[in-house]
Amino acid sequence: MTKKLLILCFLFVVFCAQAQAASLCMPTTKNVQIHVKPMFPDTAINTSLSIEQLRGLTVKSGSPAPNNHQTVGFTLASPLVIETALRFRKDSSCTMLEAVDIVFGIAKADIYVANKFLDNACAYQAILTHEQTHVARDKQFIDEHTRFLQNHLYLLLDSLPILPASSAQSAQLEEAISNSMGSLLELLRARREAWQEPLDSEEEYAKLQNQCGGAFHQP
Ligand SMILES: [Zn+2]
Repeated sequence: MTKKLLILCFLFVVFCAQAQAASLCMPTTKNVQIHVKPMFPDTAINTSLSIEQLRGLTVKSGSPAPNNHQTVGFTLASPLVIETALRFRKDSSCTMLEAVDIVFGIAKADIYVANKFLDNACAYQAILTHEQTHVARDKQFIDEHTRFLQNHLYLLLDSLPILPASSAQSAQLEEAISNSMGSLLELLRARREAWQEPLDSEEEYAKLQNQCGGAFHQP
């Protein structure tokens, strides 16, 4: 009888101690700082390739112009990325999410103008302006979606019913955020393409084609 009482008592003490430790922990997903740093590269201009070589480059990158167009200029930009890092703060009883640091944007954007137009200032400028418009549109896209990304993170953290106090829960939180960022990245990549599409419409190409006294007419 004495032994049984002792065991019950011991269990009770352990349970009490655990409950007390957990109650000291604040939820990890509250008061979290979210930093989103936009990433955009300096743009290099390459004028060393022929029209044929440029076409090869567009084919290799998976975005060739339609067959009835010659490739006189091209912007080779890297895919959109979202890099996420979580910072946790640990003390004796709790693990708390302190901050989410995100880098969002693209690492590289290089403009190519076919070498055939180096001696034709009008054609060179027309092509360069078209490609620079692509780059500016990308930059605008990243700027405008930086706040969108931050708001998405705040809503996500609010919706996650995850409390701290164990490394397993931290891993769970990391996985939930990583999954959500993965889906968001897919959506943003598709949206970025849609932002660029109007710049390469038939009307835009026709406008370019008619500039500079026939410089763009195929031989
Ligand atoms: Zn274009």
